[in-house]
Amino acid sequence: MQTELAPAYKGTRDGEEAEAILRKCVHCGFCTATCPTYQLLGDELDGPRGRIYLIKQVLEGRAATAKTQLHLDRCLTCRNCETTCPSGVQYGRLVDIGRKIVDAQVERPLAGRLTRMALAKGLNSPLFAPAMALGQALRWAVPASLQAKVPQKQEVGVRPTARHARKMLLLEGCVQNAMMPNINSAAARVLDKLGVSLVPAPKAGCCGALNYHLDFQEAGLDNMRRNIDAWWPMIEAGEVEAIAMTASGCGVMVKEYGHLLAYDPAYAVKAQRVSEMTKDLSELALAEEALPELLAAANDRKVASTKSFGDGAAKEAVRIAYHPPCTLQHGQQLRGKAEQILQDAGFVLTAVADSHLCCGSAGAYSVLNPEIAGQLKERKLASLEAGKPDVICSANIGCLTHLQSGTGTPVKHWVEVIDELLSEAA
Ligand code: SF4
Ligand code: SF4
Repeated sequence: MQTELAPAYKGTRDGEEAEAILRKCVHCGFCTATCPTYQLLGDELDGPRGRIYLIKQVLEGRAATAKTQLHLDRCLTCRNCETTCPSGVQYGRLVDIGRKIVDAQVERPLAGRLTRMALAKGLNSPLFAPAMALGQALRWAVPASLQAKVPQKQEVGVRPTARHARKMLLLEGCVQNAMMPNINSAAARVLDKLGVSLVPAPKAGCCGALNYHLDFQEAGLDNMRRNIDAWWPMIEAGEVEAIAMTASGCGVMVKEYGHLLAYDPAYAVKAQRVSEMTKDLSELALAEEALPELLAAANDRKVASTKSFGDGAAKEAVRIAYHPPCTLQHGQQLRGKAEQILQDAGFVLTAVADSHLCCGSAGAYSVLNPEIAGQLKERKLASLEAGKPDVICSANIGCLTHLQSGTGTPVKHWVEVIDELLSEAA
């Protein structure tokens, strides 16, 4: 697609990058068919091709309006369109640039600005964990609509000490340890059994995605630099062989540090190295030769194939419906790995229709666009529950809490299920 950049964007990094992306788009519209917001709203401007056009027009000098902003806001950034696109259009990068340019032209209403600021600051705040603990303690007293946002308090179990020579950094994340702290503990226990110790870097924090996707791109870049500073001494000393991600939403962001900080002379090289070392937990676990042996041993003890959820009396295979997060299957282009681990462990994976579609969580999207997010959640849960699973599994804190808020079926990170299996078999 030929683009004539307006003088304001000519020669700028954002302008040049957007132009290169736009040049690849042949306007075929294949992407529209798999876009969840187009499927729900039926408006071309709520699909990728329409949004690409809107961004192109702004880059060519047409003034952005509140309507332009609305259509970009309604995008989930699920990047399903990238997977579908035959021409390799990097829509996710384009929409980030488009939003930045449009938000610089169109001021949001005060309420919208305050909500975004509250989300970015609140979820990143050290007060989030105590607030969540209070919410969990008083869960019975809060309205049902709020209860759905507060997961039940979890049993965490013991986190192993860093006893192995092989070590990997663990990004603890900003909200995950407050909402579902067992995920990181379970990951540490499973990798410990595989001969790898997960070590946190106390000064690391949010991956930057919250700020970056809520109009605070500079603050997001600062989060990234802080994490690199926290990790670098151990990376430079060769003490760690990878950076493990237990939330695919964080993983996709950290894998982009190299690109996003490429123009920062103090961080470009380090950011690239950090991105290269970043691995989703499913990549790491599958790469371990000891995993099949460990799972087979657990299977031999007939633990995996019997129900350990619910009353535990039935001797049927445990049925799992797996939801691959968009940040994993589209953002990181990683498919089938967690599913393979679960199947190798003896669980039965139920068939799930439209598994390529977003569940509606999408970071802060479910708070900012509750109606669309709610409809997508209902559709997703209908697909996931069609096969009558005992448990629903996924790989991202946002998807897990969003889905759990709409069903009585337990929703867990896949590594929690593997951890339960290995602990029971021990
Ligand atoms: S599928 Fe790709 S090339 Fe076709 S309209 Fe969508 S983004 Fe453009
Ligand atoms: S990122 Fe998702 S919601 Fe946004 S245009 Fe692409 S497919 Fe549609």
